[in-house]
This record gives sequence, structure tokens and C-alpha cells, in this order.
Amino acid sequence: MTARIIDGKAIAAELRARVASEVARVKRANGLTPGLAVVLVGNDPASEIYVRSKHSQTQAAGMASFDHTLPAEVPEADLLALITRLNRDPAVHGILVQLPLPKSLHSETIINAVDPAKDVDGLHPYNAGRLAGGFAALAPCTPLGCIILSRSVHASLEGMNAVVIGRSNLVGRPLLQLLLNENATVTIAHSRTRELPELCAQADLVYAAVGRPEMVRAKWIKPGATVIDVGINRLPTADGKPRLVGDVAFTEVSKVAGAITPVPGGVGQMTVACLLVNTLRAACAIAGLQKPAL
Ligand code: NAP
Repeated sequence: MTARIIDGKAIAAELRARVASEVARVKRANGLTPGLAVVLVGNDPASEIYVRSKHSQTQAAGMASFDHTLPAEVPEADLLALITRLNRDPAVHGILVQLPLPKSLHSETIINAVDPAKDVDGLHPYNAGRLAGGFAALAPCTPLGCIILSRSVHASLEGMNAVVIGRSNLVGRPLLQLLLNENATVTIAHSRTRELPELCAQADLVYAAVGRPEMVRAKWIKPGATVIDVGINRLPTADGKPRLVGDVAFTEVSKVAGAITPVPGGVGQMTVACLLVNTLRAACAIAGLQKPAL
């Protein structure tokens, strides 16, 4: 068997086009321009690339984009003051503080300072709690993307056995909740899980969000299963340009799986597209408009 390659690039482009058309509609009908503020602290090269991409895709969707870059040694009080200003700014509907933050800053304090209505990263405990309770919430973008990619293969995830490897607040835990909302049966695995290969081998859907290059092997995968690879690992090469690989051994797993996401070109593409979705949703909710049709 050779797996169908799930084209995250094309699915993300189609989603961005739908967001752009809804943004144009709310501008026309309601005079509302959704605005996203991205706060970057320090100069981590990977974060700088992500922030540039968020900026250009936000503008391409017709939204306003506000970038704030602060030095790595910024006092926490100054960052909190900026977040308070953004919370109050009526032109800003989404606030994203790029993670990871420098070690001198307490991430939890910063995340908790963002107005939950503008928390487009879905990391505020208010949104995490609502998601866990099965209520409407702004959910983290990467897991949202994982669900959309899964739904591009399966019209419904109802009753499917899903294994999520990784339990971070950014990916694994919210993905568990989103899969439950889809009526999948979910097992969440982590570094203390026993017999992980056997557990995965029972799954119809496998999500790898670990941060360990090519950890998931072909013999872990049930023939025909759908494999969504969240991992982004940079491996050193002789020419000094890092090679990107996922948490799944793509070449061998694609001979067993029914469908698989590549790295790059899979989940990573969806994360920013879902950030645009969340910003548009937040803007409509703040303005008291109907949830956008996406
Ligand atoms: P994280 O916070 O480091 O969490 C990693 C998780 O993997 C933890 O729950 C950890 O278990 C578990 N784990 C570690 N070693 C394991 C093992 N040997 N067996 C089973 N589980 C193991 O990472 P994250 O933020 O969720 O990110 C995961 C990966 O996704 C990274 O490669 C990251 O770069 C990538 N990522 C990609 C996107 C995207 O847009 N595509 C977005 C976010 C993250 P414990 O909890 O027990 O420690």
C-alpha cells in the first residue's frame, strides 16, 4: 500500500481563501476589519520566520496586522503593559505572543494576561477550560489544523480510535478535546506510556506531537490508518542548512498508512491558516456578529 499524501499546503491555501472572502464580506456588510497583533520577544530565528509568515498571511487575508518586537531582556512589567494596551485596543481582535519566551519571562503570567476574547492561540485557561468542558472556545491553531486535515480524509471521525502522542497544552491536550468533540475514541500517550507501538497499532488515527525525529515507525501503524505528523525537527546536514523531519518515519510509514501528512507541507501549513480563522471568529464574536461561515 502507498499512502495518500495529505496536501496541507493546498488545504491551507483553500482555507485562507475562504477566510479572505469572509473578511471581505464583514468589511462590506459591517465595516469591520479584523486585526491581529503578534508580539515577538527576542530574536529566535525560527520565531522570526513564523512571525513574518503570520504578518504576510494576515495582510493577504485582508486583515490588519500589528507587529510588536521587544528585546529579549524586556522587563515583564513592560510586556504586561503592552498586552493591557492591546486588550483595550478596539482595532485588535486577536493577540498572539510568540512562544517560547525568553527564560526570564514567566509564560503562564503572560498567557493569563491576554483577554480570553482575543486569545487566538487558545492557550488562556478560560479557553482551555471551556474546550475541556465541551463548550465553544477559541482552540489552539495546530490541533484545529490536525482536525481539518483528518476531515479531509474522513467525512466523519465518529467512533474512530485515535491515539495522540504528546500531552502539551499547545498540541496534545487540546487535540484530545477536539477529537472528543468529533466523537472519536481517544487515547493520549506521553513519555511514561507503556507499549506505545502496540497502542498505536490499534489506532485508526495516529497523531504524533512529540518533538523526536522519526520516532513513529512503520510497524507501529495499522495498515490503512491515517497518520498526522505534527513534529518539526531540524536535523543538521553537511551543507549547514538544517533538514526538516517530522516525528514519523515518513518513507516507511507511507508504505503502510492509508493517508499521511508530509513534513514540511502538512500540519505546519495549517497552523497559520487556523490563526486567521481564530482571528476572524474572535473579531465577529467581539463585534456581536454571527459566527463566520468557514
Ligand atoms: P512538548 O511540549 O515538548 O511536548 C512533547 C510531548 O511528547 C510531551 O507530552 C512528552 O511527554 C511527549 N514525549 C516525549 N518523549 C516521548 C516518548 N519517547 N514517547 C512518548 N511521548 C513522548 O512539544 P509540543 O509543543 O507539543 O510540540 C511537539 C512537536 O510538534 C515538536 O516537534 C514541535 O516543533 C511541533 N509543533 C509543530 C507545530 C506546527 O505548526 N506544525 C506547532 C506546535 C508544535 P511528557 O509530557 O511525559 O514529557
